[in-house]
Amino acid sequence: MKYSKSGITTIKSAPNDAEITSHILMIRSGMIKKLASGLYTWMPLGLKVLRKIENIIRLEMNRINALEILMPAIQPSELWKESGRWDKYGPELLRIIDRHEREFCFGPTHEEIITDIARKDIKSYKQLPIIYYQIQTKFRDEIRPRFGVMRAREFLMKDAYSFHENEECLNKTYDIVFNAYKNCFNKIGLEYKVVNADNGQIGGSESHEFHVIADNGEDELIFSDSSDYAINAELFSEAPKEGDQCPDGSGKVKIRRGIEVGHIFKLGKNYSDSMNASISNKSNKTTKMIMGCYGIGVSRIAAAAIEQSNDDRGIIWPKSISPYEISIISIGYSKNTTIKDYADNLYMELKKMNLDVLLDDRDISPGNMFSDADLIGIPNKIIIGKKFIEKNEFEYKDRKLNKTFTINENNNSQKPSQTTLDIILSHING
Ligand code: ATP
Ligand code: MG
Repeated sequence: MKYSKSGITTIKSAPNDAEITSHILMIRSGMIKKLASGLYTWMPLGLKVLRKIENIIRLEMNRINALEILMPAIQPSELWKESGRWDKYGPELLRIIDRHEREFCFGPTHEEIITDIARKDIKSYKQLPIIYYQIQTKFRDEIRPRFGVMRAREFLMKDAYSFHENEECLNKTYDIVFNAYKNCFNKIGLEYKVVNADNGQIGGSESHEFHVIADNGEDELIFSDSSDYAINAELFSEAPKEGDQCPDGSGKVKIRRGIEVGHIFKLGKNYSDSMNASISNKSNKTTKMIMGCYGIGVSRIAAAAIEQSNDDRGIIWPKSISPYEISIISIGYSKNTTIKDYADNLYMELKKMNLDVLLDDRDISPGNMFSDADLIGIPNKIIIGKKFIEKNEFEYKDRKLNKTFTINENNNSQKPSQTTLDIILSHING
C-alpha cells in the first residue's frame, strides 16, 4: 500500500476523553474514530489489525473443529423470557421495539439463540459434543463506556458455545478450548495470565478468565510465586496483599493488573433446563444437554496489545497483528528517480514475498514520516535516502529494539538483489 492512498490520517493530540495510552494511540494513529459514547468506527488501519486478530482466533477455533456460524445481532424477547434473562439482565440490555410493537434486544451475548438452535437441530448423543462459534458484533449499554474500544458499548466478540451429553464430555471440551485460547494469545504474542474467576457460587461450575498483563488493567490478579494458583481479586471480600502467604499455602502472593480478554465458563444445564433443550442419551433416555460458553473480546485485544507494548513515540505492534509488517520510507521519492525507482522495486519485491508493506511516498519532511511510522507502530522500517545516491546504502530499523543496520546494495541496477532481500527477511524474522 502506498501511504498516500492508505487512508491513514494521524493526528498530533488526542481529545480529552482519551485517558489511557491505548485509547490515545488508537485515536492519534487514526485506527479508530469516535461516533458517540462507546461507539467507534474502525478505519482502514485499525480494521487491518482487527481482521488479523480475528483470523488468528478463527484458525485456532477451526483447528479444534468448532463450527463457525453467524447469528443475528437483534434477538426476539420471547427467547430471553424463556431463559429468564429478560427480567434479570438490567439496563445493560438495549431493548428495542419494532413497528409491530414486538420486543427485541441487541444481543450482549447469544446463549438463548444458540440453545434454541441446538434444541431444534440436536436430537441424539451421537451428534455430541459440538462447538459452535461466531465472530460478531455485540452491544452492551455499559454504565461507563471508557478507554475507547476497551470498554465500548458496541464491540466485536468471538463467542462459542458447546453442547454435551454429560459433565465428563464438557470437561474434555473445556480443556480443549482452554488450550486453544492459550494458543491464540501465544500466537498474537501477548503476556497474559489465566485466573480462576469462580468461587463455586454457581453450582460448582468452573470459570476462567484470560487477562493481558498491563498496569492500566481494570482487574487485580492475585497469584502465587511458586504454584499455578491465580485468581481474580474480585472474588475475595478482603484480597491478600503482595508478599502475603498465598491462600493455597504454596508461597508468596504476587499482584499484577490485567485486562480481561477472554472468559470461559461451564454453564451446566442453566439454559437447557429453562429452555428445554434435550437429547436422547446412550441409554435411550431423554436428558437435558450440558453446556459450556467461551468468549474472547476481539476488539478489546487490539487495545490491550497496545496497552502492553508502546513507548513515548507510539505503538509497538507484535508482528502477528501489526497493520503492516514493514514500511519503506523513501526520502525524496517525488524528486529523485534513483530513490523512487529503487523504492518502488523494493516495494514490489517485498509484496511478492507476501509481506504487508507500506511505502511512504508522501512529499513531506523526513521527520514527519519517521514520527508517523513510529506512531503507527510498524515493527520493521527501511529508510532510503541520500546515502543511497552516494554509495548505494540504505538503513533497516527495528522499532522494538530501536536498532539501525546499514544494508549495502552491491548490485548496480535499480532492483534489489536476492542477497538484499534475504538480509531484510532475516531482520524481519528476528
Ligand atoms: P467485563 O468484566 O470486562 O465487563 P464481562 O465479564 O462482562 O467483561 P464477558 O461476558 O465474559 O465479559 O464477555 C467476553 C469478553 O468480551 C470479555 O472477556 C471481554 O474481553 C469482552 N468484552 C466484554 N465487555 C466488553 C466491552 N464493553 N467492550 C469491549 N469488550 C468487551
Ligand atoms: Mg467476565
